[in-house]
Amino acid sequence: MSKYWSPIVSALKPYVPGEQPRMANLVKLNTNESPYAPSDKVIESIRAAASADLRLYPDPLALDLRKAIAARYGLEPEEVFVGNGSDEVLAHAFAGLLKHDQPLLYPDISYSFYPTYAGLFGIDVVEVPLDAAFGIDIADYRRPAGAIILPNPNAPTGIGLPLAAIEALVAEHPDQPVVIDEAYVDFGGDSATTLVPKYENLLVVQTFSKSRALAGLRVGFAIGQRPLIEALERVKDSFNSYPLGRTAQAGAIAAIKDEAWFEQTRGKIIASREKLTGELKNRGFEVLPSQANFVFARHPGHGGQTLAAKLRERAVIVRHFAKPRISDFLRITIGTDEECARLVAALDEIL
Ligand code: PMP
Repeated sequence: MSKYWSPIVSALKPYVPGEQPRMANLVKLNTNESPYAPSDKVIESIRAAASADLRLYPDPLALDLRKAIAARYGLEPEEVFVGNGSDEVLAHAFAGLLKHDQPLLYPDISYSFYPTYAGLFGIDVVEVPLDAAFGIDIADYRRPAGAIILPNPNAPTGIGLPLAAIEALVAEHPDQPVVIDEAYVDFGGDSATTLVPKYENLLVVQTFSKSRALAGLRVGFAIGQRPLIEALERVKDSFNSYPLGRTAQAGAIAAIKDEAWFEQTRGKIIASREKLTGELKNRGFEVLPSQANFVFARHPGHGGQTLAAKLRERAVIVRHFAKPRISDFLRITIGTDEECARLVAALDEIL
């Protein structure tokens, strides 16, 4: 705290990112990264972009990347916005679309950046409780709202909503922007991108960090009809009109085009998730049904914090949230089969 701080910063509860420890031989299952290297084509494109041209500013419109994303989803580049990770895209949505006279609604157990952005941009919120099974019930969102944001699948539960439920939510709030954060959708969720041509109030946000294994490149995007995309562009141009560097643009273009790598890698992660879910259940864990690249699990005989600490002693890092209702859970990122086996072996020593 300092007298030089603005009231907003003084009142802010900053988001605490997951740890990035540097230990040899660590099994790092705490921040939902991909356990696999990105496509070789991505690395080649980044190498090619790392040239003398770096002295020049990048394309502020990132038009080639937006064209490549639009082509994949059967849309126009004007219906695509790109940013420095989906966190930045979400921040622009908070600043440009989610502040209204009525409160912003989001699930009470959800991505912890939402309350931080709401604080940063001075947005009133209502945190809508999850249902008894830790799911999102869209009937609970039938209340006065200025805007709605929710992840699908939700994080940290991993539970996804079917497309029909998302469509009903969007259709029930024609006067409010509804943002669906699809950071994890490629691991078995239903994507709402197909609804974009039909609903002018829908914005879908995705990332290259998870299913494209590019968390370190920082590229995310939003898909929506032109007026919503224009709001994000206005915020971007008032903040940093060059959010994506040349290497990020080049790498992301190669990534979105490499459908074979994408299908193969996400298939492996989904298969490992199903295998790990079975192994955890065999050891007495309750595992919520996940459509993401992580599982959310608790053991009736062992508290979440203790389990996380004992795993850490065995060089396995998972995520624990000290939050009411979920403090007995662990969020475990799906690693390679070998990493998952090391997790299970560590659990067998502990349980
Ligand atoms: N949304 C959700 C629900 C997430 O869990 C994350 C990753 N922490 C993000 C968005 C942001 O990911 P990135 O900025 O790497 O695209």
